[in-house]
Amino acid sequence: MKLLITGGTRGIGLATAVGAARRGWEVALGYRGNEDAARLAVEQVATEGPRPAAFGADVGDAGQVAALFDAAVAHLGGLDGVVVNAGIVAQASTLADMTPDRLDRVVRTNVTGALYVAREAVRRLQPGGAIVFVSSAAARLGSPGEYVDYAATKGALDTLTVGLSKELGPTGIRVNAVRPGVIETDIHADGGEPDRAARVGPATPMGRAGRPEEVAAAILWLLSSEASYVTGAHLDIAGGR
Ligand code: NAP
Repeated sequence: MKLLITGGTRGIGLATAVGAARRGWEVALGYRGNEDAARLAVEQVATEGPRPAAFGADVGDAGQVAALFDAAVAHLGGLDGVVVNAGIVAQASTLADMTPDRLDRVVRTNVTGALYVAREAVRRLQPGGAIVFVSSAAARLGSPGEYVDYAATKGALDTLTVGLSKELGPTGIRVNAVRPGVIETDIHADGGEPDRAARVGPATPMGRAGRPEEVAAAILWLLSSEASYVTGAHLDIAGGR
């Protein structure tokens, strides 16, 4: 399996890359601009499997996304799977207090970016390939008073999963989504609460936050031939939340 993961250098994307490498899959990692994290990620994935590489590209820029796919395909020699994972959240706030600039940034990264990445994936994936969107439990919960903008972008991904899975059904390319709950990554610092996972985790049905590896396991299963009859599915990885 030859796999491209956007946002593959930190958090859930990195855990997915490590798990993929462990299975012997070859991985290319996309990231936005954190070069140090990208270098460390490549080093870490290289201890598990063959020939990882990282490429900087803002998913909100169609030209950069095309260049990312060019580089990934050249490096891997083809593409069997794409994880549409890059995403951001902004400071917790009510909608009334969100600036147009913030709304544009969140929608551009999480929705426009996912559309650009999925569009290139459809063009380049080999028959029998698979796409996994990283949505969020927020698509179901709505995130009132915190990030309704973010939640709405994840709702868009859930709809995109349904539509694209039907559009691509005859091609044999499967399209699915995972909806993580509160997972221990650095994304919460961007929302202004680095310790969010520790605060919210105990209030969830399973009494704890999730680990990136627990989301990665579901993504890797959806990509694998074990999920050969699964398409258009939204898989909740949220500890019952
Ligand atoms: P994270 O730890 O903050 O990592 C984000 C990754 O995405 C980094 O590699 C980052 O690159 C990259 N990225 C961000 N903006 C980008 C852009 N415009 N273009 C290209 N790459 C970009 O995030 P995470 O918590 O692992 O989240 C990954 C996905 O899971 C997101 O879609 C998020 O919404 C979703 N999710 C997370 C949680 C959670 O609790 N953590 C829950 C539900 C869903 P740089 O390092 O270069 O910035």
